Amino acid sequence: MFEIAILLLPVAAASGWFVASKHYTGKAKKPSNEYEGYFKGLNYLLNEQPDKAINVFIDLLNVDDETIETHLALGTLFRQRGEVEKAIRLHQNLIARPQISHETRANVLNELGLDYMRAGLLDRAESIFLELEKKSSHQVKAIHQLLSIFQQESEWLKAIDYASKLELATQKQPLLLSHLHCEAALFYKNMGESTLTQTHLKKALKIDAMCIRAHLIDAEILMEKAQYKQALNILLKMAELDKRFAPLYIDLIVTCFDDLGRDKQKFHFLANLQSDTNSTAVLSRFIKVLVEKKGVEEASAFMKNKLLKHPSKSLLKLYAQVDHKIEHEEFDFLRTVINKLEDEPLTFQCKHCGFTSIDLNWCCPSCKEWGGIEPVTV
Ligand SMILES: [Zn+2]
Repeated sequence: MFEIAILLLPVAAASGWFVASKHYTGKAKKPSNEYEGYFKGLNYLLNEQPDKAINVFIDLLNVDDETIETHLALGTLFRQRGEVEKAIRLHQNLIARPQISHETRANVLNELGLDYMRAGLLDRAESIFLELEKKSSHQVKAIHQLLSIFQQESEWLKAIDYASKLELATQKQPLLLSHLHCEAALFYKNMGESTLTQTHLKKALKIDAMCIRAHLIDAEILMEKAQYKQALNILLKMAELDKRFAPLYIDLIVTCFDDLGRDKQKFHFLANLQSDTNSTAVLSRFIKVLVEKKGVEEASAFMKNKLLKHPSKSLLKLYAQVDHKIEHEEFDFLRTVINKLEDEPLTFQCKHCGFTSIDLNWCCPSCKEWGGIEPVTV
């Protein structure tokens, strides 16, 4: 019953408007087919056929610049309720009416474009917003939608073009643009186009010199070419820029140090980084080199100290792994139990909408903002 009541909402709006408009315009005489249609619609309502009733009422409404708001409100209601097909039919029907003004037609086109977006018909939405982009009154809104379409289609060059247009029009969004250049760089990297890859990475860094993602892609490319010295320079710069992302680059740094045979530098770097962050990923790499350089006993004492200051499951597991050489029945038992404890996963959270995930998404799947997701446990 509740479902039916919900379904009848737009119908009530339409029929209410129908009655009110007839009352206030004071038309004494109506064409008989209009009355017939109205009662036909009511009949559908009484017989619990709201879809048919809606169609009748929509056909009954006169379409002109005064009543257009009612039609548009109905269309929005349909779209918001997920009844996109009905919204599309209503808006297509409105556009076909010759009596509406150019400005009204543009408003209806905008709504139809939004319907197509909601229905996932991106190519149709694209052609509508390309048309609306030419109208100054709808330009910014159209650019927003086109940018969204090109991102969804992974058309990164077009997306860059529209992000630049939006930046010009609204004077914001530099973060988005640097991420789009990163996407374009990855696209060209996969195509084996190294010059274009570098062009887009440079553009990303020009827009946002702190763009961790662009630095990361750059370093990975250099490591693939065994240019560990240059890669290490970039990675160490990243570690200075943003320590929160350490779990993402710590293994790359360790690999570079190892390939360059810089053991001493690696030890000092990890010792400093672990004292500056509370990252378990960093601490576990440090413990490994501490055992190698200073032995199990010193590493064990270090971990005991850490555990007393910051007791946590992940540190307890690290401690159990360090002390694996201690032969004692009781400790063996505890170590077995501790090692069975589940790892605390690395998690990320969007600073705009609070969305959390265990995967790093540079573009938030929930609010679609770029670069807002940061590690919360490290
Ligand atoms: Zn978000």
